[in-house]
Amino acid sequence: MKNTILSLLAAGISCIAFGQQYRYAVNLNIKKDQVPVELACPPINQDEILFSFPKTVPGTYAVLDYGRYITAFKAQDAAGKKLVVKKIGNNDFRISGARNLKKISYLVNDSWDAGEKKNKIFEPAGSGFEKGKYFVLNNGAMFGAFTGMIHLPYEITFQKPANMTGYSSMKGQKESQTEKYSAADYHALMDNPILFTTQQPAYYQMGNCRITIASYYDQDSASYYTQKAVIESFKAIEKFTEKVPVDEYTVLLFIQDQQKAGEILESGNFGLKNMLKLKRLIGDHAYGALEHPTSSLYFLPDFGRHSYPSMLKEVVIHEFMHIYTPLNLHSQYIGDFNYQQPVMSKHLWLYEGITEYFAVQIRMQGGLETVEATLEEQLKPKIVNAAAYPDSIPFTVMSANVFDEPYKDLYNQVYERGAIMGMLLDFEIMRLTDGKMTLKTAVFELCKRYGPNKSFDEETFIREFVALVHPDLQNFFDKYVTGNEHLGLDKGFETVGIEFHEKRTGRVPVNLLDKTESGAEATMGIVINGRVTVKTANAGNTAGFQKDDKVSLKEITEAFQNESGEYIPEGEIVELEVIRNDQPLILKFPAKYKDGTTNNESRIMPNPSPQQQKLFQLWTTGKL
Ligand SMILES: [Zn+2]
Repeated sequence: MKNTILSLLAAGISCIAFGQQYRYAVNLNIKKDQVPVELACPPINQDEILFSFPKTVPGTYAVLDYGRYITAFKAQDAAGKKLVVKKIGNNDFRISGARNLKKISYLVNDSWDAGEKKNKIFEPAGSGFEKGKYFVLNNGAMFGAFTGMIHLPYEITFQKPANMTGYSSMKGQKESQTEKYSAADYHALMDNPILFTTQQPAYYQMGNCRITIASYYDQDSASYYTQKAVIESFKAIEKFTEKVPVDEYTVLLFIQDQQKAGEILESGNFGLKNMLKLKRLIGDHAYGALEHPTSSLYFLPDFGRHSYPSMLKEVVIHEFMHIYTPLNLHSQYIGDFNYQQPVMSKHLWLYEGITEYFAVQIRMQGGLETVEATLEEQLKPKIVNAAAYPDSIPFTVMSANVFDEPYKDLYNQVYERGAIMGMLLDFEIMRLTDGKMTLKTAVFELCKRYGPNKSFDEETFIREFVALVHPDLQNFFDKYVTGNEHLGLDKGFETVGIEFHEKRTGRVPVNLLDKTESGAEATMGIVINGRVTVKTANAGNTAGFQKDDKVSLKEITEAFQNESGEYIPEGEIVELEVIRNDQPLILKFPAKYKDGTTNNESRIMPNPSPQQQKLFQLWTTGKL
């Protein structure tokens, strides 16, 4: 009896659902760089309706205008007669006679190489098509919705070449020539990009969460390094998180071969010829990634010499940690996202700043970086870059206005100043609670309180955060997050037994790579794998470098210090490793100093108090 009722109910529901849904058909067996899309429309009960593509999507904090890539848009009735369509602005199509609407069809242009000069879509949010190789599909670039009807379910059927498989966190049925996906509504569709690739995936079980790693890179050896780097990232995440709030997660990676550009960048020879070459090779590609609730999509370069797996580790950890903020902890502006008229939240300090800080901390606590390397290679560059942004504009003001000038150009500080702010907030929480709480425990607690489907109140959230931790924490927010005070790094670092000097004058080591000070010089290009190349080395240069030696900047700093981080006496022997003809070699030379200034110098205190020792331990290992 029970069963009959249930099956009748189910039949009834599916009957209603059949009409009230979007049924899309997409053909990936393309001839040109355009993908044809057809929509069997749900019934429309009004004379005129707007069919729209997103102006933006969550996590990009930028105007995308996906509608710019839609061409040959047609609306038809059941008899195949065309209905009148007018395009309004970049993203909206107004359809007349909509009660008779049966079918919509259009072509989607590849946003990666559409040659757009202005406001090109950031690649991880766009679409890339290469017949027989890959299709990178962000669904905002592919599919639209009718106004007021974003809550209907979606069903999408792809016709595709047999050598390609699609990967997504969306439920799919895979056949040789077709794949069918379904999404509960437009939000769910936007949240689940799809990568069609010819290459094999890898899997990793992280506690309760099964991770699928799907990738495309046209250099064969890549998948091994790619998958290894991603798995190492998840091993570090596993040590930091306990049970994660998702059971499945998909990493969608696209690696672009830029080894030729890497050679130029590393050489530091930026003459006109090389600059033109670089422009041709890299063009206006934007490398990076975009987070989604149960997946993330990456567009990253391989600059050669296996440098990209280390980049990958940084980015993968950051993107995954977004499952906490904003995906499990966000205000109503994100929870009920408006794709056409988005309202920005003022809490980018939480969504991006803290996420980036956690990524740094995970690498340290997970053993991918030592504490010293974290200070020197991760935090110091952020501190230096953070200083380039004005303290005078409060973080929350920049955040709430990030679509507009002048705030738009200040967005990137979320990864620098925002991450440092996150670290200082962590120190302050540890100090006020005597190590009973950390930023991580506070954020994880709030994620439990809210989760993916419940939004916090945009206006009262900071008060709620403070109430969870300690009343005095309000001062921190007033000064640095909603206020415009200069970040108090020295005081903050002191909490965990780290000495920090924004500026220090005194005796400092001579610069081994300054021609006038020491007789040698390095190329000025990008630093690959932490090492620079010696370009000129005069006979008798201080360190004994030879041309083409590869030397680590971090190791130069460390070579002058003893175990407690103090400079060794003048004249004592410094030992420094270089890579010469692909072999490691130790150079030995006497330490030389000069009067000078160092900036943003930090070191672990040689004699910390028991309290500092305790919080240092908590910060660096996550345990007391
Ligand atoms: Zn992010």
